[in-house]
Amino acid sequence: MAYDFDLIVIGAGSGGIAAARGAAAYGARVLVAEADRLGGTCVIRGCVPKKLMMYAAGFSQALLEAAGFGWTGVAGRFEMARWADAKAAEIDRLEDIYRRLLTESGVEIAPARARLVGPDTVEIGERELRAGRVLIATGGAPAHEALPGLELAMSSNEVLNLRQVPSSLLIVGGGYIAVEFASILAGLGAQVALAFRDTLPLRGFDNDLRVRLALALADRGIKLAAGVGFRSLERSAAGYLLNRADGSVLSAEAALNATGRRPNTAGFGLEQLGVHTDARGAIVVDADSRTNVTGIWAIGDATNRKNLTPVAVADGRAFADTEFGRWRARVDHRNVASAVFTDPPIATVGLSEADAVMLGPVDVYETDFRPLKTAFAGGSARTYMKLVVDGLSDRVLGIHMIGTDAPEIVQALAVALTCGATKRDFDGTVAVHPTTAEEFVLMREPSRRHGTGTPSPASAAHNAV
Ligand code: NDP
Repeated sequence: MAYDFDLIVIGAGSGGIAAARGAAAYGARVLVAEADRLGGTCVIRGCVPKKLMMYAAGFSQALLEAAGFGWTGVAGRFEMARWADAKAAEIDRLEDIYRRLLTESGVEIAPARARLVGPDTVEIGERELRAGRVLIATGGAPAHEALPGLELAMSSNEVLNLRQVPSSLLIVGGGYIAVEFASILAGLGAQVALAFRDTLPLRGFDNDLRVRLALALADRGIKLAAGVGFRSLERSAAGYLLNRADGSVLSAEAALNATGRRPNTAGFGLEQLGVHTDARGAIVVDADSRTNVTGIWAIGDATNRKNLTPVAVADGRAFADTEFGRWRARVDHRNVASAVFTDPPIATVGLSEADAVMLGPVDVYETDFRPLKTAFAGGSARTYMKLVVDGLSDRVLGIHMIGTDAPEIVQALAVALTCGATKRDFDGTVAVHPTTAEEFVLMREPSRRHGTGTPSPASAAHNAV
């Protein structure tokens, strides 16, 4: 029997849209099924509205700094409802752009839930359609399982729809979402407490960034309730109570659950078809995004890969190129840069110092200073930069920064790291002055050296890009 489509994509988030448009550009007949809005987590209830909220919060600091630069009479009051209306209009605009891009690419959009009824058969609304390939791009959602009562709290979805700044906010968790909203809501005027079980926020990031972020958040008036696990979250007449493992209780008017996300992989036929998932429910895929079931691929937060929009987009494009184009494309997941949009922001690419040291000799270059603009305005915020360099090959293995513009700077430097740049290449690059970024090419002496001798096989493998 002939196929109705060459490709059916389930989920129109960033990854699904990239794959659908990519395949259609090669002439494939593509349908994308999406029961919710086009754009997925990133555009509708994630990165984009978060960044718009971050911009709003940034004005509080800018207004303070303006006085240091001679401005008078600069003051204001934040009206969150006005921001919320403008944000909603912007998200509508972006969703329209996605709709137009899909339609102009020749992709059919089915505004309905899809269910897999066979490896090549998908039920969408009233229709049962057959496709040569099926791509799962269903994304993820906030998880509530970490402790009892979390379902009572807001998730990132609801925080982004707030129309009023809560007077006090208790954030449970110390990962990306927790620290970003702690920073943003504090910037908007809320009293924020950040509760996490490790001693520092952002487990897995380079330790020097974690230490400095903790100091910077505390400096902005955020209460860090670190190093204690949790028993439960309760709702009271006055707000929320977080019962901690040591018997202490934290309270606030509002609460945000930021204890991680879970993949959207249940209830649409994957189990019946025997598609393998891991303990978290994430679809297990190979380097080409294939599941164990022939004809079914998966990308993005539904899979056991890094939950980052650009990773989903890159894997979606690679899938389209490989399956419908003329060459086999594969994404290198080893050196994926990422940013945390706190104030000051963090950005990082490559190995942390601790991870690099496990692989062989390492030289560490770092600088820590008060940037000109902050110093002039009398602020205390600092910028920190670190290069982790292979002690034998001189190759730069990790680039880490906390400070203004870190995401923009590290995005550009990630290209150099991907190309295998050495410290000598950084030294040979003439600075752009006066900038913050120039400090990355002006670090001359290592602050410390770890280990000597020959590289371990693991180090050699990491370097063989
Ligand atoms: P993260 O995995 O980053 O953080 C989860 C937090 O919850 C951690 O602090 C973790 O603590 C804590 N936690 C989990 N289980 C428990 C438990 N049982 N008891 C106590 N604490 C617990 O998840 P997020 O929700 O912040 O973000 C989800 C994903 O979304 C991120 O991994 C990231 O990939 C993506 N994201 C990316 C952004 C960006 O690129 N800027 C922004 C926002 C999200 P512990 O560390 O101790 O395990």
